[in-house]
Amino acid sequence: MLCDVQGHIHFLRIKIRKMVSLKGKVQTVLGLIEPSQLGFTMTHEHLTMNYSCCYYPPPSGQEALSDQPIEMKNLFWLKQNPYSHKENLLLCQETDAVREELLRYKAAGGGTIVENTTTGIKRDLKMLKQLSEETGVHVIAGAGFYVDATHSTETRAMSVEQLTEVIVNEVINGADGTNIKCGVIGEIGCSWPLTESENKVLQATAHAQSQLGCPVIIHPGRHSDSPFQIIRIMQEAGADISKTVMSHMDRTIFDEKKLLEFAKLGCYLEYDLFGTEFIFYQMNPEIDMPSDNERILRVRMLIDEGYEDKVVVAHDIHTKNRLKKYGGHGYSHILENIVPKMLVRGISQNKIDKLLIENPKQWLTFK
Ligand SMILES: [Zn+2]
Repeated sequence: MLCDVQGHIHFLRIKIRKMVSLKGKVQTVLGLIEPSQLGFTMTHEHLTMNYSCCYYPPPSGQEALSDQPIEMKNLFWLKQNPYSHKENLLLCQETDAVREELLRYKAAGGGTIVENTTTGIKRDLKMLKQLSEETGVHVIAGAGFYVDATHSTETRAMSVEQLTEVIVNEVINGADGTNIKCGVIGEIGCSWPLTESENKVLQATAHAQSQLGCPVIIHPGRHSDSPFQIIRIMQEAGADISKTVMSHMDRTIFDEKKLLEFAKLGCYLEYDLFGTEFIFYQMNPEIDMPSDNERILRVRMLIDEGYEDKVVVAHDIHTKNRLKKYGGHGYSHILENIVPKMLVRGISQNKIDKLLIENPKQWLTFK
């Protein structure tokens, strides 16, 4: 009983502190800023992470390629089989290249990167802080947990209340033993079918969000029913769906009618795999990964249907081959190549500014 009372007082304190300091602000790894300072914002990227959890065995007869150094002659293979090359999964080794690319992103007009690396894929807050200091790009870090396959025994054993406390603490006090604070919850990892541990994390995310009034971002399972299930669970747990981003829409809901049905639920729809084009999608062979041109047409369709305030875009860079250093498109691809093509396809500058500035700003501002 005493413990309950103490817990309640603890949350009240957090609540009061939040009302004083976070409301109306955006929380970056360097501290609070005004929403108007964000500028062009990519809402789903990684600057440093380790994706070895998702290694996928190479096609038979091609095993030797997975250990070879990255060279011109295997770049096309790497683009088609990004998860079958061990070194390719270690974005955490590329700090120098990432720093250089952030400077290029800034030179192209970029202002902010939301860095969605959560517990399980080697979040490195000290490095994010350093990269932001060195480049002048605002970086917003993510609280919470990635997919079940990366949950520790400790995470699995936690109750919803304990998970909530961990997440709230990462936003209020700092994460991973540092005083560097997260400014968004997510990407919260969900599989298909959703696991018990992921379900608890989703409920904890909703509870933490209702205490903090903060933005949330979700990685759905690779099935068109997954985003619906996630929103239902979060709604029942009291989440603010209007401040929630559903990532990876480009590989999740293909049927237009179903997509519009989902859009009605009121979350942000994120097209965040710009720059990714391959024939065979290792994570789910049932899925035909769209091209960038198809993504642009999807975004235009959503705008035409009245969802211009609910669409955000990004690249979700999470492997080495996506970096310019290895023949990839880099963090400035959307600004350099996609925006001009959107204009050609009849999306006005005013609407583009909504996708890249206004919608991220609304989402990232604490309530
Ligand atoms: Zn991601």
